[in-house]
Amino acid sequence: MKPYSDFAFVEHALDRADHLRDDAQALDALRANAKTIVVDPNGFTRVDAEGQLLALEGAAPADIFLGLHEGTAWFAHALADALPNDVPSTELRSAALQWPVLASTAFAQARAIVHWHRSHIYCPKCGGELKFSRAGWQADCLRCAATQYPRTDPAVIMAVSDGEHILLGRHPSWPPHRYSTLAGFVEPGESLELTVRREVMEETGVHVVRTRYLASQPWPFPGSLMLGFVAHAEHSTPRVDGQELEDARWFSRAEIQAALANGGDLDTLKLSPPLSISRWLIEQWAKGESA
Ligand SMILES: [Zn+2]
Repeated sequence: MKPYSDFAFVEHALDRADHLRDDAQALDALRANAKTIVVDPNGFTRVDAEGQLLALEGAAPADIFLGLHEGTAWFAHALADALPNDVPSTELRSAALQWPVLASTAFAQARAIVHWHRSHIYCPKCGGELKFSRAGWQADCLRCAATQYPRTDPAVIMAVSDGEHILLGRHPSWPPHRYSTLAGFVEPGESLELTVRREVMEETGVHVVRTRYLASQPWPFPGSLMLGFVAHAEHSTPRVDGQELEDARWFSRAEIQAALANGGDLDTLKLSPPLSISRWLIEQWAKGESA
């Protein structure tokens, strides 16, 4: 099995078996032989001596049901405290590069749903206490009876091209020569296509004229869904405000192909690691995908 798919957290997802979430008897029968991924408040989980996922055997009634794989049920358990330093552990980005895809995709699901549990202690309508139901996939207010469902924050990420070049930007905190695709959160009442145009304009002053959706990636850091686009823009000199982006540049197809041929790592241009849809979008553009 490849250490990662074209990008991480997508392939070999568990069968979420929604019908089992309401079937307490069936879930109880599955708990004894279940695998449980623990997630600490920093998003870390336990690993064995080889650095691979150490899933606990069995599941407790309060654990969150993730789904099934070949008859085995997988659960997530939210640890109240951070894993101690002497307990081997890892975080999701490292896991995505080192684990089999099934394990890292399940860990991504566990991290995302555990984050929702941790950030939804009280009802957003009345401040009452929430009680989780449906094996962890619903929260019901004990005071006003309002129902909450797990939240995902959509964000667009785009390979913007003028036909011959791709527009990449860099954040001030990144290592030298790291450039990546532009991205931004979708705002309430906004279409994905308008978000692409708005974000590219806000961050670089470049005018997008066409967009085309390609693929999505769960990005549980802590709760995003990245929606990947190719976009066609009018060629103009990018301008940045120095806050969100430190620099934005057009790179030629030859520059990108040279970087990709060298594992994404040139002295003058360092692309994001292959686990992200950002890298995949750049690769698709280099292969000729356009809006
Ligand atoms: Zn309430």
